[in-house]
Parts: sequence; C-alpha cells; structure tokens
Amino acid sequence: MQAFHYQKIHDIQGAISSGTVPHSKFVAGGTTLIDLMKLNVERPTFLVDINLLTLDKIEKMPGGGVRIGAMVRNSDLAHNATIQQEYPVLSQALLSGASPQLRNMATTGGNLLQRTRCYYFRDTAYACNKREPGSGCAALDGFNRIHAILGTSEHCIATHPSDMAVAMMALEATVHIRGPKGERAVPLNEFYFVPGSSPNRENVLVPGDLITHVTLPALATGTRSYYLKRRDRASYEFALASAAVVAQMQGGRMQRVRIALGGVGTKPWRSMEAEKALESQDASEANFNAAADAALRDAKPLRDNAFKVELAKRTLKRALKIATQST
Ligand code: SF4
Repeated sequence: MQAFHYQKIHDIQGAISSGTVPHSKFVAGGTTLIDLMKLNVERPTFLVDINLLTLDKIEKMPGGGVRIGAMVRNSDLAHNATIQQEYPVLSQALLSGASPQLRNMATTGGNLLQRTRCYYFRDTAYACNKREPGSGCAALDGFNRIHAILGTSEHCIATHPSDMAVAMMALEATVHIRGPKGERAVPLNEFYFVPGSSPNRENVLVPGDLITHVTLPALATGTRSYYLKRRDRASYEFALASAAVVAQMQGGRMQRVRIALGGVGTKPWRSMEAEKALESQDASEANFNAAADAALRDAKPLRDNAFKVELAKRTLKRALKIATQST
C-alpha cells in the first residue's frame, strides 16, 4: 500500500473541497476501499474520512416516502422498523449481503459505490480496462463464470456487486448529491453507466461530489415486495443472480410492477421489458414466464456463464410468485 495523507472532516463543505484534491478518496466504512488499497488496485494519496458527517438518519418525509442518510450503516437500515414494514425488499436485500460485521461498518453511500468483484480487476497482474483504461480485459477470454450477461461491452463484462442497489432500483430510489457545482438529485436508474468503451467511469459522480442521502418514494396501498438471491453458498457470498420485485396488487392483478436484477448486469439492472410484460396482468405462471423471457432477451452469455440466463429467469419467476402471493 502506498503512503497517503489522512484527514477527518467535520462538515459537508469541507468534504467537498477536500474531495476535489487530485487522487483523493472519501472513506466511510472502508469495506471496499481499504481492501482495494491493500491490493494496490486503489492508490489514493489523500484519504478524506467522512465518518463525522451527520448524515446518519432514517426519516419519514412529510409528503410520504423515506430519506436515508448516506452514512446510515447497512445493519441499521436493514433493521429499521419503517424499512422492514414498508420496504421489506430493501431489508431482505441488505441482510442477504456480506456478513453482520461488514454490515455494521458499510454505509448506504458506500454500498452504492461498491466496486466489482471481478477477480482480474482485483489482481494487478492481469489486464483490466476498468483498473487501467486501454490495457484490455482478461475476463473476456478468461474464467468468466461470475461475470455479466446484460449491459456488457467488448471492453468490460464485470457485474455490479451490490444487493442493496438492486432493491433500491426496484423501489425507484433517488440519489442526492452535493458537489462543487451545488446540489442535484439523480434517479438511481440514471446514476450508473454501462461500461461501453470506458468501464473506468461507473457513475455520474465527479471529483468532490458527495452522496448526502437517498430517498425512496411512498408506495401505494397494496404494494408487496420481495428480494431473492441465488449464490454459491448460503451466506457471505455475492449473487450469481438475484431479483427484486415491487408489485402493487389489486384483486389478483399486478397494477404496477417494478423489477430489478442483480448478479447478471454491469449495473443494478432495472428490467422495464419485464415490467411491461406484467403491467395490469394476472399474477399467473404464464405471465411470469413471459416477463422472465423479456428480462433476459438481450442476454449475451460467454463461455462460462451461460447458466446465468436460466438461473436469472428462475430467480425472477420465483421472486414474482412469492411477492404477489405474500400478504
Ligand atoms: Fe476489468 Fe471489467 Fe475485464 Fe473485469 S471484466 S477484467 S473489471 S475490464
């Protein structure tokens, strides 16, 4: 690990200005960044510690919905009564990720910004366009069992590892950012980039931008939700495929449905194709099959990850069944 300057910051403006220093990085829980610094993948020369910022509240908003501070720890968010009662899909997604110890440290903002678990990204002996633009992609011809089948490019096929972000995508969350040019609110579905020819650019943030909070809209009466994750072992493992379903039900019909997939996309993958197939339809197996086919229609499997197409379909169908049958 290379030498770096370290500073604790007490106020948002100070954080923003420190964040514009070249090669600086914000650190909160440190559950991604410190690992990657030890591996020499991340090499910041200035660590800006934002743990003292008072962005750690979960609050109901006056007009409906909830506001989640960027520094809210994953465990606090998962066990919050409002989240468990009104947004169970989010609590389920959080509790399916990492370990209790990691969830006690990891923050809401940091979870959104997790880096990929692609093994070639994390090993500097291999070519990786995300780590070193223009160097190539060792995963394309390498062992690509855990890699993406949706949103890939010839430059990168890495999946986004977050479970929380998949649930937030189906909940139509908005990310609130403060930066050198002021404040802005970005719908989560527009926050992430697909890799295209520049996989090193993963989201809309620019130097100095700080995520302050995330908001979730109020859900209509009769809305049910569920998060289902498939992985190689029962805990402390990333998704091979996951599905978040948020469905507003009325008399056995799905009035409004929001669907996102994890473990298969280069970003938390919202499937509007699947949503369209289900809107105002009966909660039937035939309709679930049609939605799953629509969600994976554009999948581009590689040598080792073709199994993900069927796995993702089955995961989504099962999640739809559980979500629409729950009371
Ligand atoms: Fe790097 Fe992406 Fe290729 Fe992995 S898939 S080696 S992250 S460019």
